[in-house]
Amino acid sequence: MSDVIQLLPDHVANQIAAGEVVQRPASVVKELLENAIDAQADSIKLLIKDSGKTLIQVIDNGIGMSATDARLSFERHATSKIRKAADLFHIQTKGFRGEALASIAAIAQVELKTKQENTAFGTKITIEGSKVMSQEPIGSPKGTSIAVKNLFYNVPARRNFLKSDKVEIRHIIDELQRVALAHPAISFFMYHNENEVYHLPQSNLKKRIVGIFGKKMNEKLVPILEETDLVNIEGFIAKPEFAKKKRGEQFFFVNHRFIKSPYLNHAVKTAFEGLITHAHHPTYFLFLEVPAESIDINIHPTKTEIKFTNEQELYAIIRATVKHSLGQYNVAPVLDFNRDPNMDTPYSYKDKQPDKEPEVKVDRNFNPFQHKKTASWEALYTEAKDQKTHIEPIHSDTENSTQDLFQDTSTTAKSITQQLQHKYIVSTIKSGMVFIHQNRAHQRILYEEFLTKMTLGEPSTQQLLFPMQLQFDKTDIQLLLELKDDLESSGFQFGAISKESVTLTGVPTAIDEQKVMGVLENIIAIDKEDLPDANFSPVDFIAKTLAKSMAVRVGQPLSATEQEDLVNTLFNCKEPQLSPFGLPCFTTITSNEIDQRL
Ligand code: ADP
Ligand code: MG
Repeated sequence: MSDVIQLLPDHVANQIAAGEVVQRPASVVKELLENAIDAQADSIKLLIKDSGKTLIQVIDNGIGMSATDARLSFERHATSKIRKAADLFHIQTKGFRGEALASIAAIAQVELKTKQENTAFGTKITIEGSKVMSQEPIGSPKGTSIAVKNLFYNVPARRNFLKSDKVEIRHIIDELQRVALAHPAISFFMYHNENEVYHLPQSNLKKRIVGIFGKKMNEKLVPILEETDLVNIEGFIAKPEFAKKKRGEQFFFVNHRFIKSPYLNHAVKTAFEGLITHAHHPTYFLFLEVPAESIDINIHPTKTEIKFTNEQELYAIIRATVKHSLGQYNVAPVLDFNRDPNMDTPYSYKDKQPDKEPEVKVDRNFNPFQHKKTASWEALYTEAKDQKTHIEPIHSDTENSTQDLFQDTSTTAKSITQQLQHKYIVSTIKSGMVFIHQNRAHQRILYEEFLTKMTLGEPSTQQLLFPMQLQFDKTDIQLLLELKDDLESSGFQFGAISKESVTLTGVPTAIDEQKVMGVLENIIAIDKEDLPDANFSPVDFIAKTLAKSMAVRVGQPLSATEQEDLVNTLFNCKEPQLSPFGLPCFTTITSNEIDQRL
């Protein structure tokens, strides 16, 4: 048989390589931004159209390329950044594989314009699917502009695989944030569909963080600084009271390169131990400077994971440094190893850092359940019980059929209702007792109320005497704008919305003003995840989030009327048996069961 092995043509090889390098528009953004930084630019513009699906353009004022280099830059393994294998162990630049431009040009229409400083003309090259379409001299300013149009135009399968515009732009913004944080001395501009997203002038790290995440960051940040033989650490952490329920703002940079490291993240988290709950994530921006030979950045194709030679030592140093800063800036008790730790007051009492959500302020005259009175909830309870499938049937024998369950309610003593451990409401019924979980039951009630109001478009709003101005970062504002209609239908009323803040003139009735920010943050948090867009219903999600944050907590004492109203209203619900998150709201113990025990 004849030989069958052939070398793949370049454009095919490039397309295969592109599969690894370019997962989505944000990958292109990352590569182009990194090239601009490697070219020593101090001003970089990023122009995006349609979340990068139509256009991704990066314009820099760096060193530019000669005509020959410009042409060569699109060849695979063409790089100016390493020459020999040994160079791999002390890489100072972002790129070194020489794959990015070749890959991008294989799956898009690319226009490159570039000019070096002391030359009369620059070069313009257009290239499509790895084929050079034109090359000509042009007049242009010093630096490089690369426009990547119609990404995946020749790979429809990949193009169809892209997520919604909202998700893709989020990834792009994430990339820009990482690069901009790592390089505060470079100015960045970002436009999306001609709207300015970021205008970040040259500055220092603190101002850069504030420039990206909004002015509210200013008061939150505590500096970190530590120099050891192994590593220099610099950056900021946010005070524990600003820890978030979502994982958003956690940044590690190693030698100015953003990395993900669950291991080192754990080091920071343990430094916050006792100051924040397990459900919270500390915010941090930490820059590690290590000798280039002590890391291997080569293990992951998109290079956000790296391998350290001294991982365990790093862990210990990071943890100690963060702890130290928390102590030094008086946000945590200073460590004193000579003292008996048992003598210490637990952090949560000693310092004012709450380790759980502040309790709902109880307005003694306000009864959250009183609006729906029912004469006999027991009748409704019977209905509810009959509807459900998953709760144990109360009676299996016929002599106690549900019909006669409550037959003599009118003549017998009124059922007794009692709160147990500030958690359950226990009520006697003819057949025994029902235990109602107060928090879940209230969630169910509020959830159905919100859903009804939102779908009927009849929000009940409580006007604020003093409008609240809440600070958000720009991407959060974008998400709020998208959800604005749904939020309004749940009772929120918006005043002015600027790039960094939102003014609220009204909030859903009965929502605690102090909780508004937390509620909105929770709503935004979900939207940031890569959810399959199709199944996501903002209305349902907002109703759930509101219900969850407004429901009475476990631990809250309820008056007799509140208890009764909660029970009444619960059994008036469409689906009283389950909380909006699918947990049972109540259970029963029948007198039969009690009989069996006695
Ligand atoms: P790598 O960055 O790994 O070297 P790339 O494919 O990203 O590979 O780029 C190939 C080469 O093109 C780079 O090594 C660099 O010499 C040149 N180049 C790319 N972008 C720019 C730019 N914005 N300014 C100047 N030179 C650039
Ligand atoms: Mg590169």
